Amino acid sequence: MTASVGIVFLAALVTAIATGLGALPFLFIKQMSRRWLGVSNGIAAGLMLGASHALIAEGSAIHASWTVAGLVIGALLVAVSSCLLQVRSDLHVGELRGAGASKAALIVAVMTLHSMAEGIGVGVSFGGDEKLATFVTGAIAIHNIAEGLAISLVLIPQGVRVWKSAAWSIFSSMPQPLFAVPAFMFVAAFEPVLPFGLGFAAGAMIWVAVGELLSDAFKDAPHSNVATSVVLGLVAMMTFQILVKS
Ligand SMILES: [Zn+2]
Repeated sequence: MTASVGIVFLAALVTAIATGLGALPFLFIKQMSRRWLGVSNGIAAGLMLGASHALIAEGSAIHASWTVAGLVIGALLVAVSSCLLQVRSDLHVGELRGAGASKAALIVAVMTLHSMAEGIGVGVSFGGDEKLATFVTGAIAIHNIAEGLAISLVLIPQGVRVWKSAAWSIFSSMPQPLFAVPAFMFVAAFEPVLPFGLGFAAGAMIWVAVGELLSDAFKDAPHSNVATSVVLGLVAMMTFQILVKS
């Protein structure tokens, strides 16, 4: 393990900033159909599933049982937190504008939970080998662009400027650097915990991919479009992984 806390923070900061890129297409187009939102959420889910697969494979190679245990605990933790927050899956950062204080706090809490799972994924992957870290960081950064697009698709029609929409998008991912660092420090300090941590991050990320991204995607696009985009996202990630590893 050669990574330092600084590198982990920077990597997770880059993934957060990537979210802002999702607003940029709106410099050129003023409107985009909900169907594209569904497709981009589907692709984002596929990317996350690809990254989770890599985390599980890495963890299983070290200690399969601990990886499975981590997977269960990670997914459970996100599921229980979501229930406690009484997550309505139609909550979006776009509604922050004009939302009451309690609703705004709920939206921020849901965003934080989602982004936290991804930050832990980045942090833990840096405890594994360097290629895994590159791969997972890349997957989360690209997926964040899709999320920024989804956020902007809600904000821009409400008259929010592109740069402001980019800023909100980046803000929604700020938990990533904040949670990546302690997750990394934890698996770095207690190396035997690494396979558990890799499973934990995968479990949390799979929950987010299915519970949020996919359930949103199915609302906006026909099932077959969503299914195709999930597979495309997954294939893109596997291809990226082959390129990184060779
Ligand atoms: Zn996400």
